[in-house]
Amino acid sequence: MRIDLHTHSTASDGTQPPAELVAEARAAGLDVVAITDHDTTAGWHEATRAAVEQGVDLVRGIEISCSRHHESIHLLGYLPDPDDQELALELARARESRIARMDRMIRRMADDGIDITVEEVRAQVAPGATLGRPHLADALAAKGVVANRDDAFRELLHDGSPYYVGHYAPDPVTAIRLVREAGGVPVLAHPFAMRTGTVTDAMVEELAGAGLAGLEVHHRDHSGADVERALRLARRHDLVVTGSSDYHGAGKLNRLGERTTAPEQWSRIVEQSHGVEVVRA
Ligand code: AMP
Ligand code: FE
Ligand code: FE
Ligand code: ZN
Repeated sequence: MRIDLHTHSTASDGTQPPAELVAEARAAGLDVVAITDHDTTAGWHEATRAAVEQGVDLVRGIEISCSRHHESIHLLGYLPDPDDQELALELARARESRIARMDRMIRRMADDGIDITVEEVRAQVAPGATLGRPHLADALAAKGVVANRDDAFRELLHDGSPYYVGHYAPDPVTAIRLVREAGGVPVLAHPFAMRTGTVTDAMVEELAGAGLAGLEVHHRDHSGADVERALRLARRHDLVVTGSSDYHGAGKLNRLGERTTAPEQWSRIVEQSHGVEVVRA
């Protein structure tokens, strides 16, 4: 069983529409794939139809952008009820805030002589998708300001850039509670990938106490030492251990199935969920 629990589609900053993402998962030999777009469930419907057609088990999920002390932390939520009022409102609030934030980033660039417009960014975004920096990167690349997403982030869009503007994002403790109350299972995404030291051992202990179910241990942005540390913390707090690709289509180097989750760990997630069912092939 090959299980990949973290991917993105055009419903957020992936480059493949949900149906293509699922077809690619099948072609990559995956038995189970999760769709986890940033702050939205908009891709679930299309992905569900494709999963039934393609014969892949689909895990409907989200990746919630959280923040603490102005540092970004990502939380995966598996199988939550998308109609849960409080969760849906929180996600909508974050998506709204991302629109105003994009306007501010564009204005800062314009003030500095980098000529990019809201319309040009909009042209890179699928209808109803969560707006993100990768769309701004794509617009800059389309204009020839940079060569690709990676260069855009390195040169202009990274967290420390003068053009960077944050957006509304809940504290991880709040996000964990909302996912749990919606019957979902919260797993901390790539905890040590940010290289900012934001996620400390003490924070993992705090989040475990707040209802965190698991840690995404195996991820390309983790060093060997990061993996060891995450495994140690997972053992200490009895957390589920996951591994995943964080596939973004052509937008990143990550390839489907490059990291996977063990079947017995996946079972622990299913056992804890009571939001929506896994779509069985
Ligand atoms: P945002 O949520 O709008 O702040 O944008 C963050 C997203 O940008 C993350 O989900 C990453 O997938 C993406 N990202 C970060 N760094 C890079 C990079 N170097 N190349 C492509 N995408 C990136
Ligand atoms: Fe992303
Ligand atoms: Fe992430
Ligand atoms: Zn992701």
